[in-house]
Amino acid sequence: MSISLIGQSIGESATLLLNEQAAILRAKGEPLIHLGGGEPQSKTPFDAVTSFTGLLNSGDIRYTPVDGTIEMKQAIIRYTEDFYDRKVEPENVIASNGAKQAIMVALQAILNPQDEVIFPAPYWVSYPEMVKLCGAVPVPVHPEDGSFYPRMQDILQNTTSYTKAVILNSPNNPTGALYSEDFIKDIVRFCEDENLYLIMDDLYQRLVFDGKKAPNVYKFVKELNENSKILVVNGVSKQYAMTGFRIGWAVGNKKLIQVMSNIQGHQTAGPAVLLQKAAIGAINGVQSGVESLRSTLENNRNVMLDQLSAFDGVRATKPDGTFYVFADFRHYDKNSTRLAKLILDKVRVLTMPGIEFGLDGYLRLSTCGSIKGIIEGIERIKWVLDPNSPNELFIGERKLVRDWL
Ligand code: PMP
Repeated sequence: MSISLIGQSIGESATLLLNEQAAILRAKGEPLIHLGGGEPQSKTPFDAVTSFTGLLNSGDIRYTPVDGTIEMKQAIIRYTEDFYDRKVEPENVIASNGAKQAIMVALQAILNPQDEVIFPAPYWVSYPEMVKLCGAVPVPVHPEDGSFYPRMQDILQNTTSYTKAVILNSPNNPTGALYSEDFIKDIVRFCEDENLYLIMDDLYQRLVFDGKKAPNVYKFVKELNENSKILVVNGVSKQYAMTGFRIGWAVGNKKLIQVMSNIQGHQTAGPAVLLQKAAIGAINGVQSGVESLRSTLENNRNVMLDQLSAFDGVRATKPDGTFYVFADFRHYDKNSTRLAKLILDKVRVLTMPGIEFGLDGYLRLSTCGSIKGIIEGIERIKWVLDPNSPNELFIGERKLVRDWL
């Protein structure tokens, strides 16, 4: 079969694949604990549901403008004012099918083959593949000090004459690291001086813990005008627990947004009108659900860290936000794919292998589920790995006997 070079270079989304496997196991009645998930379990906000059903009941469901309805853009403009203290115009805004598409069309709008895109590692799984889809070259940057907090010198060392853009995701999936104001400031200045695009993937911006606050990138821009190459990406998936609605957006200069919109117009056209309506409901509606999600996640993070601190050989850096803990399991296995498979096979706990995020020997553990799931999930993993564990484990009625250590 003749498959394109780009097609051949793209790997399957490992996280989506593992999630599918988990769904199959669960459907078979297996006692699965899902520590792999990237979606909060809270219900869709009431205002989103009523907006959605209001339009649905009208039966008037049509195409929308490619870059989103006027009402959707107004909601995004308000959001930008509220959270970034920045007034933008409708032409600065595009709504897409998830933040995923917003990032994808942005990359397609700016990259030529051979261009390089820098992003700190560990990184969100899709960045390298999205860059490759454009025929360009992903450049993951591993902080030299082994931490999850990149320094300016790490970025500088990886900059070449082909560098076209930097992508930052803070707080970060998979580490939960929130980059400092100083770092963001330095990156903004650097991108301005070098004339590079800066894509801020702020999807987890409101899910930050310990009284910290995600820095506002615009604060550090020398002059905010239509030449600015900063693109801020956001969406409803995480903060409103609306992953299934697939609405995200980007805010940037008018020229870039226009080109992104041209591309999107030939890919998918405008996002589904009902889903935009639901997103508008969430953005303009009562916001208490976001704070309640944030504080639940902070508590879940603490429980997860407590569990891990009692797990010999496992090290975890305290996440500043998001709903992931990226824990170091190298003591047990340096191959995270093998390790995640062992854990899923033996005790039905789903975790995400760190290699998919650019760092082997680590597992991404999600704190989205229940406290009970977190505690039992880590206990089960401990039982699999710790040679001092008892020989038998009961999961409900099922008796497991250790036969692999
Ligand atoms: N960026 C990051 C860092 C993410 O974690 C995700 C979702 N896992 C996305 C973008 C895409 O989000 P959406 O559901 O809005 O497409």
